[in-house]
Amino acid sequence: MDEEMNNIKTRIIRIDPISPEENKIKEVSEVIKKGGLVAFPTETVYGLGANCYDEDAILRIFRVKGRPPDNPLIVHISNLDMLREVSEEIPELAYRIANVAWPGPITVVMKKSKRVPYAVTGSLDTVAVRMPAHPVALKLIDKSEVPIAAPSANLSGKPSPTNAMHVITDLFNKIDTIIDSGETFFGVESTIIDVTRDVPILLRPGPFTVEELQEKIGIKVEIPKVARGISEAEKALAPGMKYRHYAPKAKMVLVTGNCIEEIVTKAITISRRERVKSIVLSTDETLEYYVQEKVAAISLGTRKNLYSIAKNLYSKLRECDEKEVELIICESFEERGIGLAIMNRLRKASGGKIV
Ligand code: AMP
Ligand code: MG
Repeated sequence: MDEEMNNIKTRIIRIDPISPEENKIKEVSEVIKKGGLVAFPTETVYGLGANCYDEDAILRIFRVKGRPPDNPLIVHISNLDMLREVSEEIPELAYRIANVAWPGPITVVMKKSKRVPYAVTGSLDTVAVRMPAHPVALKLIDKSEVPIAAPSANLSGKPSPTNAMHVITDLFNKIDTIIDSGETFFGVESTIIDVTRDVPILLRPGPFTVEELQEKIGIKVEIPKVARGISEAEKALAPGMKYRHYAPKAKMVLVTGNCIEEIVTKAITISRRERVKSIVLSTDETLEYYVQEKVAAISLGTRKNLYSIAKNLYSKLRECDEKEVELIICESFEERGIGLAIMNRLRKASGGKIV
């Protein structure tokens, strides 16, 4: 089971995303129990999972992904007993979030228990925990009878995988098993919130929005610059987030403006000025403007439903790489609701190149 032997054969197994077949889940859970690495679907993106208590398996996740060792993993659980295993100091607020939002796309950072190896947490005394809502993920954790530590199942730095083909592209014959359950639901990674402080702080925006946290749990969260994807001061607050993330091979520029017309005009100007193969990531509402101007563009989805943009984002970035585009010119979005998560990912993917 060691990739250094260079003879790993990855088994790809199709599992029904709605009613996972028991026998298949059992088979894959054996791989986890034996210390193997399994790519599995969640409602956010595909994860690369291993038994959270098996340090060797955890270290292998880092090697396979090329992930810096100080970038911690999220521990995925299927019940609250597992939460009490991985943390000995669970703040009341964590239970309130769990009550309202789990299973679901929000990760809570709290003090870790001794059982969780430091390899998982990037040497921190805190652990990030989430109960995913995907039936395959939940059943797999349950049958494995241990929490599953998992980052996204991509090579470090690349856009996260939102279908099994993305995982195959990055990790085929490097890991033991890839579960194929089709597309993930949200397409961007979970919201991360640190509840170890008096005022909870947002470390990464995601599908569970800060507006929902306020409305459903009645808490006001601090939104630091790092959560918007602005690079300064990242290191101190959110370990691992200092690295370039979600990035396609192509260079990328993020186009902002006071109104949609300004954004489109700027994007067309950049596309004409830069004498390289470029593509505009537009929206259903703006695509025709580029077509009229004979500027290469594809749509990410509709501005009327930003969840559609989030869902398509990473596959469109990967598509640009397949087309060997040299410059991606991407429209920006309002930082409300899921728009905050989209803009965080776009800022990071563009490496801060914002005009
Ligand atoms: P990934 O699933 O690949 O997006 O990676 C998980 C992310 O969770 C990391 O990049 C970290 O930023 C975050 N994370 C995990 N554990 C912690 C922790 N203990 N404190 C703060 N952030 C964490
Ligand atoms: Mg990741």
